[in-house]
Amino acid sequence: MSINIHKGDMTSISIHFYGNLNDFLPAVRRRKQIVTQVNGQPAVKDTIEALGVPHTEVDVILVNNQSVDFTYQLHSKDKVKVYPKRIELPASQHKHLYPKIPRFPKFVLDCHLGKLARYLRLLGFDTVYKKHFPDENVVEIGVQEKRIILTRDRGILKHKTVKLGYCLRSTVSLSQVQEIMDHYNLRTRIRPFCRCLECNGRVLRVAKKTIEAQLPPKTKEYYQNFYQCRDCKRIYWQGSHYGKLLKLVNRFKKNK
Ligand SMILES: [Zn+2]
Repeated sequence: MSINIHKGDMTSISIHFYGNLNDFLPAVRRRKQIVTQVNGQPAVKDTIEALGVPHTEVDVILVNNQSVDFTYQLHSKDKVKVYPKRIELPASQHKHLYPKIPRFPKFVLDCHLGKLARYLRLLGFDTVYKKHFPDENVVEIGVQEKRIILTRDRGILKHKTVKLGYCLRSTVSLSQVQEIMDHYNLRTRIRPFCRCLECNGRVLRVAKKTIEAQLPPKTKEYYQNFYQCRDCKRIYWQGSHYGKLLKLVNRFKKNK
């Protein structure tokens, strides 16, 4: 009697990433066909992510030139091509996996992106951020409130439930803002100074007499126009660093 020890069938497939999906690959694997071994018949989503590319960045997958979705199970010798959003493909009957982005998208940021959160709020975008937010909360809020998850941690974006997400390439918060403006085409959607930098609440005009008691003496003397956060009640006025913020806003409105 012979005993076969079944270790799972390793098969070989090839996979080619296009456009900015190559940002996630080591230099030697970029812009070329990668031959890789897979165990059994995994879903194409798992193989794409095992190679480092979060599924949230993928728009079209072709397997042997047929359009498939993330659940497609790979077979031996499959030839896979993976495309990001915004790459024009010749035929139009592809399944587009990249979700529809609302005109005014809302965001949730992981706990390392405090500076970016303030910039996005400055520009008027609804941005949830908390300093001690565990990753599970970021995922939960993203999914429940249909917010785009912004992170540099690809692990967060690999959760099956996450549909809206973007992995920031830059480590510098000013450049991260530019990335987001470009990626989601948001420069014309900028509505500055309408959101609280501290808590994301709406900031509205308020009569001076209603908040006068809380103002420092010089501010009370020199300024007439005030705004207040509806949620945390923080008071804003066009004080000394308003000019700097305005410059920043104008920089974000332009193309770099
Ligand atoms: Zn506030």
